[in-house]
Amino acid sequence: MIKGYARKYFEGKTCIFCGKYGLYKLADKRVKCKHCKKYYSLNKLRRDLQLLYYFYLEISARRAANELEINYSVVHKKFMHFRKCISNYCNNETRKLYGELELDESYFGGKRKGNRRRGAKNKAIVFGILERKGKVHTVTVQDVSADTLMSEIKNKAKKGSVFYTDGWKSYASLQQYGKHNIIDHDKELVNNHNHINGIEGFWSFAKERFHKYHGISKTNYPLYIKEMEFRFNNRNENVYKLLIDICIVRRAV
Ligand SMILES: [Zn+2]
Repeated sequence: MIKGYARKYFEGKTCIFCGKYGLYKLADKRVKCKHCKKYYSLNKLRRDLQLLYYFYLEISARRAANELEINYSVVHKKFMHFRKCISNYCNNETRKLYGELELDESYFGGKRKGNRRRGAKNKAIVFGILERKGKVHTVTVQDVSADTLMSEIKNKAKKGSVFYTDGWKSYASLQQYGKHNIIDHDKELVNNHNHINGIEGFWSFAKERFHKYHGISKTNYPLYIKEMEFRFNNRNENVYKLLIDICIVRRAV
């Protein structure tokens, strides 16, 4: 079931904290590490690793609960806990994005199709900045006013970057902060630099995945969005390994 990287922890041979070999059993059935002296319940760790593995594979909490025969609300709570850990991890990143940046907003959830002017009620509004050949940064916002978007841009993008946006009026003062290119969907050409295909690709990446979840509540969207930012930014990494570090090792220290 648990393969590869996590197996050594699962089998209780290697310490989850320091990675060294040498755990011994305590009378209360927990294990203690000879090296870092930390102790923990192996049963609890195994369950957490298993749930995290299902989460990593993007299996829904409902299906994970069925397959592992664990109560759904316990699994759901744990998955939300993983999302909180991921969100904290993303928010701890203080590096500002720079270079060629694509900016856009998107609407998540709700039944009606919405846009900037109407139908946005009951939807989560997400603002995204994508660094070409780099990372995406997302933030759930209250509105798409110039004040809101410009303050997020100043917070996360370096002055002097090259910005690509559509013609939304809230971006009007962007030229004071860097070079501002406004795209024209009608005139997009192949190999033309003037596009926001990168950030639009990220929205599709997130929306495709959200289809699997039947009804995410508006209040939970910020955490689901951060999970997608994390998965997108680390899509070429060993994500399970990274998740163990973020959701289990660091949380317990
Ligand atoms: Zn240790």
